[in-house]
Amino acid sequence: MRAAVFHEFKGPLIIEELPDPAPPPDGVVVEVGATGICRSDWHAWMGHDPDVSPPHVPGHELAGTVVACGSEVRGRWVGERVTVPFCLGCGRCPPCMAGETQICDFDYQPGFTGPGSFARYVALPRADLNLVRLPPALRFVEAAALGCRFMTAYAAVSVHGRPAPGDWVAVHGCGGVGLAAVMIAARAGARVAAVDVDAAKLALARELGAELALDARDGDVAPAVRDATGGGAHVALDALGSAATCAASIGSLRKRGRHVQVGLMLGDERSVPVAMSRVISHELELAGVHGMALRHYPALLDAVTAGRLEPGRLIGAHVALEDAGAELAAMSGFARHGATVIASF
Ligand SMILES: [Zn+2]
Ligand SMILES: [Zn+2]
Repeated sequence: MRAAVFHEFKGPLIIEELPDPAPPPDGVVVEVGATGICRSDWHAWMGHDPDVSPPHVPGHELAGTVVACGSEVRGRWVGERVTVPFCLGCGRCPPCMAGETQICDFDYQPGFTGPGSFARYVALPRADLNLVRLPPALRFVEAAALGCRFMTAYAAVSVHGRPAPGDWVAVHGCGGVGLAAVMIAARAGARVAAVDVDAAKLALARELGAELALDARDGDVAPAVRDATGGGAHVALDALGSAATCAASIGSLRKRGRHVQVGLMLGDERSVPVAMSRVISHELELAGVHGMALRHYPALLDAVTAGRLEPGRLIGAHVALEDAGAELAAMSGFARHGATVIASF
């Protein structure tokens, strides 16, 4: 099969012919229909992720058709159109038993702990627990983002942030996950303040329902959000993952507000200072989000099927497998507007 492989961190993604994968006993092989290119892939490629060692095939935001099943798989999956969460739960550890498969103690992540979906085929273990059937109307390019950025944004807003209608939600960072959060919060009836350093991303945020669009280059973001929202946001998301956006998110909250850390903190920013004195004085809540539990997929897919949420509007570009390397490299400059999806292999 054709696959995009990097042999050293920050090195080129080379298109190679690899052997077709075989399904693991409890898993399947999916013929990839589309796969998103995500900032987490960039982190893996940069060498920020301790699970990844070259040579490596990235890719974790996939949708496609099951073409082979392992001997222990109970479901009739061959021929089904599916996606998976980026974190495949084991079904047996305490978090999985509590329904929180996204924080499985023994998680398997395609594109990180194993070969990913920047390839014609990808093997996935634990199929019966983790495969999600796609509604017929949902195209692969739209479904690709559901397993990562869109569902992470959905969990950040709907599970952790829980804004009431009319509440202010500040979204710091308007890349793929941030723009998804803008849409999800706005469609839930919240008032959204979007923050970024890129005018085009802010314009997209406005199109997706943000009432305010603040350019972080114009000065201190946190007081600007507090002023513009009559005292601060009820919910604030760091949708980029950096010391600066984390601090801005926490600083933009009103008393008893909720900060949700969505963007990954990796590399030099694994441990960043947090204004705990403000957390105490304002009785703030801090939450981390690591994707979404499988049990929330039905509600998410219902909203997509009914047209209340439109993941397709977040796709900025369709590219070919050959373009994956250039797309990853471009993420070093924060240059992309909307999500990029590999749609031809
Ligand atoms: Zn992703
Ligand atoms: Zn588990």
